[in-house]
Amino acid sequence: MASIFSKIIVGEIPSYTVAESEHFYAFLDINPLAKGHTLVVPKEEVDYFFDLSDHRLGELQIFAARIARSMKQVTNCKRVGQAVLGFEVPHAHLHLVPMNSTSDLDFSRPKLQLSSEEMSQIAEAIALNL
Ligand code: 5GP
Repeated sequence: MASIFSKIIVGEIPSYTVAESEHFYAFLDINPLAKGHTLVVPKEEVDYFFDLSDHRLGELQIFAARIARSMKQVTNCKRVGQAVLGFEVPHAHLHLVPMNSTSDLDFSRPKLQLSSEEMSQIAEAIALNL
């Protein structure tokens, strides 16, 4: 069965798109730790991030770095943190989170409730600034 992220990649489930390439898709996390929190996923279905091939991992990191640079400018944060969790969705993905302090990358913190307008606006701003 296709993972929820594969359904998002093909547009069966809507998402706020940040970037797309032949092998990767980036979109806003629906339960963000911070405004602009983005997930970067490979289009191939691999459960655990570090089971991706070295080649794909390298490509994904370069793809993610472009997005992180754009996120930093658009959100005016001090750093963009990245994390691999994967406890909820068994489709490899990287979290990119705008940060102003270490605690901003604490995934046990309550998530933000943003309107669809705010989500669209931030996704578009990051995308346009790539
Ligand atoms: P993890 O698997 O890394 O522990 O967490 C998966 C992440 O994916 C969570 O932060 C969760 O909010 C996000 N997520 C789960 N389902 C969806 C979805 O349908 N759409 C979007 N945009 N994000 C999702």
